[in-house]
Amino acid sequence: MSLEDYAKKRDFSKTPEPEPEARAKHENIFVVQEHHARRLHYDLRLAMQGVLKSWAIPKPPPTERGVRRLAIQTEDHPLEYADFEGVIPEGLYGAGEVRIWDRGTYEIESLKEEKMVLHLKGEKLRGRYVLLRFKKGGEKAWLFFRAKEGGE
Ligand code: MN
Repeated sequence: MSLEDYAKKRDFSKTPEPEPEARAKHENIFVVQEHHARRLHYDLRLAMQGVLKSWAIPKPPPTERGVRRLAIQTEDHPLEYADFEGVIPEGLYGAGEVRIWDRGTYEIESLKEEKMVLHLKGEKLRGRYVLLRFKKGGEKAWLFFRAKEGGE
């Protein structure tokens, strides 16, 4: 089960974060959450295969072309997490404030093991974006960047 890691790390009687439920949503939504944890980062989450595929980006996601951001893949989150904003209490996993930085829908141009090309329709992130595996950075490392419209 893909959400086991998510559930294992959290005590839902303590954290305000949502508990996974089997909620079916078919919309291709994405969200970026600004997470003021020990180290500020931005969590990019894409609704895919019934979960939110997730990446932690240590710097603000690029709104323009020419900036490649490292994106570290993290555990899948439940779809409900896309609406989450709040403060994860001290001492808990991911303690700190979570705020929605951007959200919207996306369309898939191509989806491969090593590379995803997506069209994001958010407020800040709009246009053609690429998630590319970055093998030099390790198993979970990807690069996230805005790509040229209509080709590369
Ligand atoms: Mn985070």
